[in-house]
Amino acid sequence: MLVVMEAGARPDQIEAVVRHIERMGLKAHAIPGANRTAIGITGKPGTADPEVLENYPGVKEVIRVSHAYKLVSREARPDDSIINVGGVDVGGNGIIVVGGPCAVESLDQARAIAEGIKNAGGQLFRGGAYKPRTSPYSFQGLGEEGLEILARVREEFDLPIVTEAIDNEALLLVDKYADCIQIGARNMQNFSLLKMAGRARKPVLLKRGMSATLEELLLSAEYIMAEGNYNVILCERGVRTFADHTRNTLDLSIIPAIKRISHLPVLVDPSHGTGKRNKVAPMSRASIAAGADGVLIEVHHKPEEALSDGPQAILPDAFAQIVRECDAIARVVGRSLQPALTASV
Ligand code: PEP
Ligand code: MN
Repeated sequence: MLVVMEAGARPDQIEAVVRHIERMGLKAHAIPGANRTAIGITGKPGTADPEVLENYPGVKEVIRVSHAYKLVSREARPDDSIINVGGVDVGGNGIIVVGGPCAVESLDQARAIAEGIKNAGGQLFRGGAYKPRTSPYSFQGLGEEGLEILARVREEFDLPIVTEAIDNEALLLVDKYADCIQIGARNMQNFSLLKMAGRARKPVLLKRGMSATLEELLLSAEYIMAEGNYNVILCERGVRTFADHTRNTLDLSIIPAIKRISHLPVLVDPSHGTGKRNKVAPMSRASIAAGADGVLIEVHHKPEEALSDGPQAILPDAFAQIVRECDAIARVVGRSLQPALTASV
């Protein structure tokens, strides 16, 4: 159920509706939009009849949402959501280019790469402190030490940090140190982790599972939002198909498909989406052309020495070229690169 308020509804009218919903034992999610506020209702309706809310002053209509996802849908919020990540807007008219290593390996490595990202005009720094590796014998990440390194990089380069939480314990720490909590493809349907991310303070970057449908992705975002964290960014990172010329098949058609039904921003990760460094630039350009709000790219200053995902890592110079090309393509479709935070370097 969704209560759509009149364009000029006053805060006390919205508050009265929220209080009524809560008295019915349900949860109210007020979603302000450019032209009107909608209030999403979640929880088990029981015998309560939310349609009585139509009698409240300031209410335009009460609509039944027929699909399973509600808060992520454009019915709840017709205009695009803009999510603030450490001072950088994700979504809206600007696009962003996020860069950084697959894994944080050392302070020197993170600093060398961050300098390249900042000089190139990248807006956010990515890097895993907790790595979900296929083999238990592969490098698993530096853990909290990696988060401390990321926090130092943020201070030194004015680059907000995106990093993955692989379990509930890591999530508490990532929420404390980082600017954005990444939930990886392998955890897209880890519902307890999603609920916990929904109670976190920081925005969440939710990656599409390797065989997830659009509806499954949106329902995972719904899990986070239903807990009260409305700052969710979706990320396409390729799905598994029979194709063997790439690590995964990057599904760019999901961008317009998401945009049609959801207000959430969408990033594309062409690094995991292809697994091969020579495909990262063309797929970055294609992502922006297809309407993505930005790209997330793995960058390493010494890819041959990378402790994970070296074959898909590009050099900082190649990253700089992608930033320029993405800005050029964004301008063709009426957008442009978001300015980076003021550099302290
Ligand atoms: C990553 O971004 O480092 C990562 C592990 O990605 P994914 O979850 O998409 O495989
Ligand atoms: Mn990786």
